[in-house]
Amino acid sequence: MTPYEKNFDAVLQRIEAIRLETNEHQIIKIVAASKYVDADTIRAFYATGQRAFGENRVQDLKTKVEALEDLPLEWHFIGRLQTNKINMLLDLNPMLIQSCEDLKMAEEIDKRAALKGKKQQILLQINSAREATKAGIAPEKAVDTYQQILETCPSLTPKGVMSIGAHTDDTAKIKESFETTYQIFDTLKKDGAKYCSMGMSNDFELAIRCGSNMLRLGSILFKGA
Ligand SMILES: *Cc1c(COP(=O)(O)O)cnc(C)c1O
Repeated sequence: MTPYEKNFDAVLQRIEAIRLETNEHQIIKIVAASKYVDADTIRAFYATGQRAFGENRVQDLKTKVEALEDLPLEWHFIGRLQTNKINMLLDLNPMLIQSCEDLKMAEEIDKRAALKGKKQQILLQINSAREATKAGIAPEKAVDTYQQILETCPSLTPKGVMSIGAHTDDTAKIKESFETTYQIFDTLKKDGAKYCSMGMSNDFELAIRCGSNMLRLGSILFKGA
């Protein structure tokens, strides 16, 4: 086994243990947050079997998509999106834009996707911890906004919600933020929500316990190896 495989295997075992305790029927998807590493490292990591990678910056995504075109990768955009980068992002055909933060951003993406004749899958990012430094819609507006996106953005396919756990050592607060996101996800299942993307290297076990079915893991995969 390569160091990446060994490292990833240990993480998978931790995920699997919590998954079996929480809900054995739940499939949990892993998106490898590859912002810390270059295209060659992603290529090496691909040998573990991982196919889904997430990037925070459109320019970095473009560089890596182009360098790794020969591999059957699935790309996610997980960072702050500026309006002037939307066209570039859509041209890279990301499987999922996880960081759509409000109706206005959704409409901006929708307008450009329509012009390109594309359908784009998105997640609505929720600022469940209510942190000023974080992007995302306020929890109390999330359900209405999601439904408005469904009604007014024909070139978007909303697939669920994303959020970043509270930035604190207080486990109770992190849990509360995950529970807030999960409740919104649960409400939106009837509107077709499939993914509840929450949980990063430091809090993924708690996120799974709170109902996450999509983890975004960076440092634990790439820095531990
Ligand atoms: C970097 C990043 C991650 C992964 O963070 P780690 O703590 O390194 O696992 C997940 N989600 C987003 C939005 C990120 O920017």
